[in-house]
Amino acid sequence: MSSPVPYSAVNKSPAEASTRFLWELRRQGDWSYEVTGECPGCRCPMTKSWPYGQPVTTKGPFRRRERPDDDDGPWFTKCTCSTWHVNRPDGVEEGCGVGFYIAFPPQGLPR
Ligand SMILES: [Zn+2]
Ligand SMILES: [Zn+2]
Repeated sequence: MSSPVPYSAVNKSPAEASTRFLWELRRQGDWSYEVTGECPGCRCPMTKSWPYGQPVTTKGPFRRRERPDDDDGPWFTKCTCSTWHVNRPDGVEEGCGVGFYIAFPPQGLPR
C-alpha cells in the first residue's frame, strides 16, 4: 500500500489528542493495552500497544505507573501505519512521521 501523504516528522499537542481510538486490554503472553484507529496525520489504520503496568514515556522522563489507572492520559504515540509514505527516511520502518496523543476512553481504561 502507498499513500500520497508525504512523511512528515511533526508532533501534535496533547490538546489535540484523538478520541477516536478503540482501546482493548489484550493478553498475548503478557497483558497489554492495544489501541486501534485512524492516524490523524495520514488517515491510515494503525495499531499501537503499551505493556500493562509498565513505565510509559508520555509526559517527559520515564514515569512508572504502579496501577493501570495511575494516569489519566492521553498517551503519546508515533504513527505506526503500514503504508508507504514518500520521503520516509532510511531506517524508519513504519508510519507517516506524525506523533500524536490518544485520549483515554471516557469510561476509563479497559480492565
Ligand atoms: Zn500516520
Ligand atoms: Zn499512513
